[in-house]
Amino acid sequence: MYQKIKWGFYNEMRPKEIEAILKKRPIAFLPWGAIEYHGKHNPVGLDSIKALNLCTDVAKETGGIVMPVVDLAANLIKSYPGISFKKHSIEFSEKLIYMICEEYLDQLADQDFKIVILLSGHAGEPHLQNLKTVAENFNKKNKSKHCWALAEFDVLPKDLLVANHSALEETSLQLYYAKEMVDLKSLPQDREISLELDAVSGRDPRSASVSYGEKIAKTFVHNVSKKIQLLINSFC
Ligand SMILES: [Zn+2]
Repeated sequence: MYQKIKWGFYNEMRPKEIEAILKKRPIAFLPWGAIEYHGKHNPVGLDSIKALNLCTDVAKETGGIVMPVVDLAANLIKSYPGISFKKHSIEFSEKLIYMICEEYLDQLADQDFKIVILLSGHAGEPHLQNLKTVAENFNKKNKSKHCWALAEFDVLPKDLLVANHSALEETSLQLYYAKEMVDLKSLPQDREISLELDAVSGRDPRSASVSYGEKIAKTFVHNVSKKIQLLINSFC
């Protein structure tokens, strides 16, 4: 087990504090979320809340600096063909997100971060693939630095979590991190849950629980911390 190194929220620290962590752990966590309709039972910031909390929990293990969450995303449920949830999503163009991500990573590199963990809470496509492409291009350009762009399902076993929208897994994570923001009673009890009616894609969220969310979060933190240790050995 490695020694626990300090971590902090970038926007809450003074320059001296930032530099002290940077010297020991030049890792930036970049939680990338979205403002997107997540059904009647979940808050619209679920992807952001999820990404920020998972990043923070990993940073507590590995050390490093957690950047403010980026709430900007493309390819939301708002423009998904065949369904009509037009409200409660703020959507941006793929091109704009691509540019923001490029400029963000370049500036983190300029500020001497050696590793960037970009966690996307939103799995819409090609939004997620675009973030991964920006990361790949960044890595080609900066041989001594590394950006790992991922979604939580990239590092979790499928029986625990698969890509989903406001389903069992996302709802459980939201329950684990901020239970008071969830209202499971707003889901219907007399019929099947569907994408068209409930904005849910995936396993039934009616059996979501704090303990299931905790299991997902702990497994995620364990798996990501292990991989970061390898990145630290290579890049720090
Ligand atoms: Zn989501």
